[in-house]
Amino acid sequence: MEGNEKLDKETTGKKVKSGKQDVLLSTRTVVKTALDKLGYPQEVYELMKEPLRMMTVRIPVRMDDGSIKVFTGYRAQHNDAVGPTKGGVRFHPDVSETEVKALSIWMSLKAGIVDLPYGGGKGGIVCDPREMSFPELERLSRGYVRAISQIVGPTKDIPAPDVFTNSQIMAWMMDEYSRMKEFDSPGFITGKPIVLGGSHGRESATAKGVTICINEAAKKKGINIEGARVVIQGFGNAGSFLAKFMHDAGAKVVGISDVYGALHDPDGLDIDYLLDRRDSFGTVSKLFKETLTNEELLELDCDILVPAAIENQITEMNADKVKAQIVVEAANGPTTIEATKILSDRGVLLVPDVLASAGGVTVSYFEWVQNNQGYYWSEQEVEERLEKVMVNSFENVYRLSTSRNVDMRLAAYMVGVRKMAEASRFRGWI
Ligand code: GLU
Repeated sequence: MEGNEKLDKETTGKKVKSGKQDVLLSTRTVVKTALDKLGYPQEVYELMKEPLRMMTVRIPVRMDDGSIKVFTGYRAQHNDAVGPTKGGVRFHPDVSETEVKALSIWMSLKAGIVDLPYGGGKGGIVCDPREMSFPELERLSRGYVRAISQIVGPTKDIPAPDVFTNSQIMAWMMDEYSRMKEFDSPGFITGKPIVLGGSHGRESATAKGVTICINEAAKKKGINIEGARVVIQGFGNAGSFLAKFMHDAGAKVVGISDVYGALHDPDGLDIDYLLDRRDSFGTVSKLFKETLTNEELLELDCDILVPAAIENQITEMNADKVKAQIVVEAANGPTTIEATKILSDRGVLLVPDVLASAGGVTVSYFEWVQNNQGYYWSEQEVEERLEKVMVNSFENVYRLSTSRNVDMRLAAYMVGVRKMAEASRFRGWI
């Protein structure tokens, strides 16, 4: 009884204001449900509900004005039963220990869904890169690597880009690690510039993966991509590449947004113009007088809605106002558990984050393989391999969701936890 009560507290997805959820609690809820459906005992959940290792570091950085600022950073390693842990490093003022933990669990699930030989990891630094200079960002990136160097490495835990980090930051981090270890170590990190061992197609990989999921979902729903009306929330790495791919495929991108506001044109926005005017943080709406709010954007009339920004955007407060027939989550955690239920009861096909956004880590895996073998693939080779992985993964999850009569999120979690649970069992951990 006591055990159950404790579990309830851990998994009810405690709500914060306006229907939003604590991401760690809601992730645990779905992990628990997936493990129950697969018939795994409680110990498996106990192993998976937290990262195996969580490191908090304090990073002193000399700022350009001569002062010293001390930043807090994290690295979470969720489960390394399958292989080394893998996942991005996020630079954002809202980074927290809880969020990094949840994101590391998501990375384990993604790796399981696309069948990579990895477990999940994630890192983050509480900072606002929009207010920092290049030299300050370089010193922060190098300081972070020095602080976590003992627990990371090409066969231990492999970082990558995430929100507000990019190939330049990966390059500084790789250089710092290589200097410390006194050998060139491109496989320490992925998402690097091509000249430093990066892979073709990595930058656009998340959006490519999302595009493939949109295509597969559209086939299931009988929607023709040509002429389909698409709304994308967020114009960062994923959102901007996705807008381009959708536009090039003949879809009409009728709405996009950034943190400040949203743009809408029922006849289709001029994506090339917006891409041209976008700054490096994905801001475009400031250029326009007539804007909508992000909340209004989610309720626009469209066929396909892609939340590609942040967590907790579709909640029980607005899920019944979503007009799209397909929702594909390019961001991590944009839809709450209650909202997932509302959408699926209404027959909306929701492709969950852990599947839809797995293209990034898939091409990161390709990059790591290329670094390990010292032999590099063409862009076409990368794209063909990615297409194959994403289509198979979508089919696996879709099939399980129909055969077990569960929504795509639960089906994806079931696929995602299985390999990790089996590997942990063979190792004798559970
Ligand atoms: N940050 C990305 C993600 O959340 C990519 C991780 C990686 O490439 O390792 O999936």
